Amino acid sequence: VNVKGKVILSKLVVSTVIIVFWEYINRNPEVDDSSAQKSWWFPSWFNNGKRRDRRKEDDTTELQLWDWFNPKKRPEVVRVTRWKAPVVWKGTYNKAILGNYYAKQKITVGLTAFAIGRYIEHYLEEFITPADRYFMVGHKVIFYIMVDDVSKVLFLELGPLHSLKVFEVKPENRWQHISMMLVKIIGEHILAHIQHEVDFLFCMDVDQVFQDNFGVKTLGQSVAQLQPWWYKHTFHLARGFYYHTAIFGGTPIQVLNITQECFKGILLEKKNDIEAEWHDESHLNKYFLLDKPSKILSLEYCWDYHISLPSDIKTVKRSWQTKEYNLVRNII
Ligand code: UDP
Ligand code: MN
Repeated sequence: VNVKGKVILSKLVVSTVIIVFWEYINRNPEVDDSSAQKSWWFPSWFNNGKRRDRRKEDDTTELQLWDWFNPKKRPEVVRVTRWKAPVVWKGTYNKAILGNYYAKQKITVGLTAFAIGRYIEHYLEEFITPADRYFMVGHKVIFYIMVDDVSKVLFLELGPLHSLKVFEVKPENRWQHISMMLVKIIGEHILAHIQHEVDFLFCMDVDQVFQDNFGVKTLGQSVAQLQPWWYKHTFHLARGFYYHTAIFGGTPIQVLNITQECFKGILLEKKNDIEAEWHDESHLNKYFLLDKPSKILSLEYCWDYHISLPSDIKTVKRSWQTKEYNLVRNII
């Protein structure tokens, strides 16, 4: 190698080092976004360019997290977990890209809710009417409503893309049993028909109200909701998250797996004559501890106004109703 060759070689080495260093110092140290680039040592403009080209060629290319998710917009909150799942906060997602993507896929989203005993007259209408207005606007939706008395369900008019299927289920005589049996019933319905009818499924408590758009940014393989009463703890990632049973979801097969595993846990405890402190919530948390959710919904998606609203929460998409156990429970 002559002198000219050596100079070119050393220039190449120096510029590579500068590019790698520049990329490195531009990484947000707090957020683990290393998966933004498949090879962390490649400049981001290189990868992004490649992804854009591929999308142009093929509209069905799977949407990548970093096409729609921008955690740098909300530096004050936890928005990526250690296992690289996004925590969806207002401002972190690109609505237009997501909307286009899912519209092309022509998805159908299912939503299950139970109203047993007095929960029918107390909560069902206030659940369905706002759900019709805010849940997956512009996409096909099927509401699966499980009640113990079909005759008590009022006729409710829904938007053109929405449909309602009401099923009668056998009541249980203790409310703990009801909330524990939900998972069994959901699993049976997924197997019997839901798996053929929807692309994504959410399971929600009926005693919470939609207040704002709950759209496609919440969709994922396996979706968990943060529990507002554990709000402060969720900011200590080392302790892990605490999830709320009031909302969970994913693909039908994933939800089936969640419900089957939770039910197995419940049965095992019954056999040993113990009951988890927070019933189904303990089982769901155990499940997500072992099989981590691929997406987490921030506290915006399920807030309890009995806690004063922290400034991190810019919008409340769904809120708790006041608990009126004395009115709605222990009646059957
Ligand atoms: N549920 C019901 N009837 C009952 C008890 C529970 O329909 O008597 C259903 C309802 O969908 C409710 C869910 O089970 O939202 C969980 O129960 P609840 O909301 O009372 O529990 P919490 O949210 O207070 O833990
Ligand atoms: Mn509830």
